[in-house]
Amino acid sequence: MTIELKSLTKRFGALTAVDSVDFDVGDGEVLCLLGPSGCGKTTTLRMIAGLEYATEGDVVLQGKRVNELAPRDRNVAMSFQFYALYPSLTVAENLAFPLHAEKMSKSEIDKRVQKISDTLQLGSILGRRPGQLAEGEKQRVAVGRSIIRDPTCFLFDEPLSRLDVQLREEMRGEIKEVLQDLSRPTVIVTHDQLEALTMADRIAVMRDGRIEQVDTPHNVFQRPSNLFVAGFIGTPQMNLLPATLTDLKGDGVAEFAVEGNQSMIIEVDRRVEELARGAKVTLGIRPRNLEISREPSADGLSTKIDMVEPMGAETLVHLKDGHHDLRLVTDWRVPLAEGDHVHTKFPPKMTHIFTEDEQLLRT
Ligand code: ATP
Repeated sequence: MTIELKSLTKRFGALTAVDSVDFDVGDGEVLCLLGPSGCGKTTTLRMIAGLEYATEGDVVLQGKRVNELAPRDRNVAMSFQFYALYPSLTVAENLAFPLHAEKMSKSEIDKRVQKISDTLQLGSILGRRPGQLAEGEKQRVAVGRSIIRDPTCFLFDEPLSRLDVQLREEMRGEIKEVLQDLSRPTVIVTHDQLEALTMADRIAVMRDGRIEQVDTPHNVFQRPSNLFVAGFIGTPQMNLLPATLTDLKGDGVAEFAVEGNQSMIIEVDRRVEELARGAKVTLGIRPRNLEISREPSADGLSTKIDMVEPMGAETLVHLKDGHHDLRLVTDWRVPLAEGDHVHTKFPPKMTHIFTEDEQLLRT
């Protein structure tokens, strides 16, 4: 069973909300649609569900084009939040609720409730009402209710957005396990990157209706395909420094001039040798990969500590070099004070290079 989107496009008047989106989701695979508010995530999901018709392109479910099918004929399960249980019904009745609409026999309903209750370990609370449940239990019942119809695929829109932080953390792992067991394609819309990085097999990063990258969480984080993805994924945000390639030293070592007349010689990657001297680039380095020392060295920039923000086990340090703000995350034990002069170091092979057209120089 699969979901395939082919050049899927949705226009609302002059606005192109979804612009030629292509992706596939396989059996048992969880794809998270991630992107800033208004980028077209929900509209994409609604087109899969049939709640919105495509202006152009196709939605293909299990190999069948379903563009003209009404939502009920697509057999997809779409849920907005794992919440809203009926307070007067027991857990078993809440679970069975979506099945009554399908005129299913009582024995078949009992069988399904039993199966879901086994999967989600709800056996001991089947007779209770929502008012008697802990928050985490309520969520599990709500998940159960949204998957009990055994649809061809699951679509979730910001399923955890209303939960408090702790419950959200618990639910992320739990939902992922359940979805893996069910072997159906799943699309989850979220604007929470941690949710996407922990729950997804693949992430589709969207901006302005278009897909910027579809890849594993690891690759989206480690090899962002362009400047937008690089800046969007990861907290604190990746440092992005405009620079000019001034010299090539061989073996992937290159000299860059950054704005403000500082230059540095750092080991990047051999692909840098494909660029011409004078090429305009953006250098990207994650705050956790940047290092500092008290001694000047050629492989970094001289900076001054602008602000020190303790974050528990780590400290977020804001550095200024006159022209740029750089973020560094370091162990809380490193003694640092605002106003100190320090030298940043760009360790070998930790720096991404984005070319003038904002694309990653691929390694
Ligand atoms: P959010 O995270 O804020 O929900 P989103 O990424 O899910 O955002 P969509 O809700 O898909 O984005 O909206 C994409 C764009 O389409 C937005 O500019 C939105 O205002 C517009 N839009 C969505 N639905 C309609 C509609 N029915 N009529 C007109 N414009 C719409």
